[in-house]
Amino acid sequence: MNVATATTRRLESYVKGQWVTGAGDGTLLTDAGTGEPVAVIGSSGLDFAGALAYGREKGGPALRAMSFHERALMLKSIALMLNEAREAFYAESYRTGATKADSMIDIDGGIGTFFVYASKGRRELPNTRVLLDGDVEPLSKDQTFSAQHILTPLEGIAIHINAFNFPCWGMLEKLAPTLLAGMPAIVKPASQTAYLTEMMVRRIIDSGILPEGALQLVAGSAGDMLDHVTGQDVVTFTGSASTGRMLRTHKAIVDNSTRFSMEADSLNSSILGADAGPDTPEFDLFVKEVAREMTAKAGQKCTAIRRAFVPRGQVDAVIEALRARLGKTAVGLPAEEGTRMGALASQDQRDEVRARIAELAADGEIVAGDPDNPVLSSGDAQAGAFLNPVLLHCANPHGAQHVHDVEAFGPVATVMPYDDAEEAVALAQKGKGSLAASVFTNDPEIAERIVIGMAPFHGRILIGNRDSARSSTGHGSPMPGLVHGGPGRAGGGEELGGIRGVKHFMQRTAVQGTPRLLAPVTGRWMEGADAGDTSVHPFRKSLAELKIGDQVVTEPREVTLADIEHFAEFTGDTFYAHMDEDAARANPFFDGRVAHGYLIVSFAAGLFVDPAPGPVLANYGVDNLRFLTPVYPGDVLKVRLTAKEINPRATADHGEVRWDAQVTNQDGDVVAQYDVLTMVAKQWPLPAE
Ligand code: NDP
Repeated sequence: MNVATATTRRLESYVKGQWVTGAGDGTLLTDAGTGEPVAVIGSSGLDFAGALAYGREKGGPALRAMSFHERALMLKSIALMLNEAREAFYAESYRTGATKADSMIDIDGGIGTFFVYASKGRRELPNTRVLLDGDVEPLSKDQTFSAQHILTPLEGIAIHINAFNFPCWGMLEKLAPTLLAGMPAIVKPASQTAYLTEMMVRRIIDSGILPEGALQLVAGSAGDMLDHVTGQDVVTFTGSASTGRMLRTHKAIVDNSTRFSMEADSLNSSILGADAGPDTPEFDLFVKEVAREMTAKAGQKCTAIRRAFVPRGQVDAVIEALRARLGKTAVGLPAEEGTRMGALASQDQRDEVRARIAELAADGEIVAGDPDNPVLSSGDAQAGAFLNPVLLHCANPHGAQHVHDVEAFGPVATVMPYDDAEEAVALAQKGKGSLAASVFTNDPEIAERIVIGMAPFHGRILIGNRDSARSSTGHGSPMPGLVHGGPGRAGGGEELGGIRGVKHFMQRTAVQGTPRLLAPVTGRWMEGADAGDTSVHPFRKSLAELKIGDQVVTEPREVTLADIEHFAEFTGDTFYAHMDEDAARANPFFDGRVAHGYLIVSFAAGLFVDPAPGPVLANYGVDNLRFLTPVYPGDVLKVRLTAKEINPRATADHGEVRWDAQVTNQDGDVVAQYDVLTMVAKQWPLPAE
């Protein structure tokens, strides 16, 4: 049955703008549930060096010519297109052994990651090509020499080598930040499930949304691809620790200091808090979560719970509850209605997991599930890669080593006892660095001790309790806005984390110089840079006319005691520093009654605003407001307002303008400093509807 026929689909790679098949017979890929042939894969003879060069030379410049917002919109278009095609992906996904629920993690989760980056790209990044990192670092007292960190996209290609367990999410979660950063990518999915990745890449390429060269696909082995990497390329890897180690020390990667991010084995743990006895919601949540993590994707999840640490007195109750729950998990053909858990990705993978279970069993005993004799609700145990969930118990986790070292990449977990929070933390740390951990407790002190103790060893930690039970995204779900990766054994890499993940594909450069020359480089006006046009009030200018540095310096205005008292009575803010001379004097910061900070800001607006209807549409906030010098009755204030950053929105008829507002007194001392945030029309008068 599992022999390729003339009609068996031959997977193609997409390189140098063409779909091509590898030379030779290739390798047959079979359906995880039925063993039937699905496709033949092979990449022999592909021009890997040429593919990398094509991406760098064709895709890179096209992406870098786009702004962050344009790239974000591109991600959104792809996400919308893929969303429409989901049914076709689900149908193909069954062949990987995934149930519909598993496929939703992979397919919807991947598409969702694109949506999140599309949205974050437009909300959290400017509509520019250069990203600023941190604030200006003044390096001289007279403001003739300053510095600013900037981020620009690397000019190489990102090579994403993925694991078999998430053929869609694995690709999309890496691709979204790569493309948003402005870097082209070449995706190499794990062979076993590459047919689903190929299907998705085909849709993306056919849509024509991406510029040519932005995305290539290698279906089959990586060949000599890594021999050709440069110092501008990035390699990410998800898979086994042994392959990861080999690739990380690849000569070309080492010689070129190529950025390499790895996500490998991870013995993730979950801890049941000492407060969470069998009659508490946290106990039930813990049991549910361990069972869910064992059975979702048949336990083939890099974040799945492998080690469950339980207060010694609760071990029997937890095992009993898990046994009952796992016993109800119908294992069978993934497309069948009643199936709760499908097959592992391949027979080889199942054999591998059985071998790992045998190693784990040396540290304890199997308390649920028989790894060798599958009990199925549908399907053929000989043809499909089925395995029932297997729960182990290890009574002496300090003396055991396999439980902390061996990752059985399937529906397998071990329950272990602990006596106090410190011991639970020490046991979790024995995993030598993991992607994710969780603690189920309703006790703030336990939460604090366990989370702080585990944090240096983990990339993400979930606190589960009754309050968050309905809204929790769960122990095993990496979220696009949160970092995914872990130290040590987990590979030491970091992915996602919102805009943090975009920066992995960019170079951070500290640029030093005089503000007049730094401002055009960074696209942001800074203190010490020249003022631009001061002849027209900048509020009279649309985005088409406004330039960075355009400025207005206002007329002076005196602040009187009557103003302060009026403001106090009017707003109800009669704080003693404004109203009681003796009390104000007694305050170490003041020499008498002072003006309210908000009075200063209000007067400042009254001074700098140009009131007639015009292109400034709204004031949506202030940033970094600081009151630096007290204002006393009789002081005379003046405002300097400068266009600091202009950010036209790609799909709207307006954009954001950030203004530097500086309020000074009669001595030139800075009284208040802040950024005013406004929406400004691209054209004025506004175009007719
Ligand atoms: P591998 O490490 O064998 O493969 C991972 C990826 O690396 C695949 O795309 C694979 O391609 C590729 N690869 C393998 N050899 C090379 C090479 N010499 N040069 C370039 N690329 C290469 O892992 P598997 O996917 O087979 O999974 C094996 C085990 O890894 C699992 O059983 C599990 O223990 C662990 N794993 C851990 C994950 C985690 O995130 N914690 C995720 C997935 C797996 P190809 O498939 O074509 O060989």
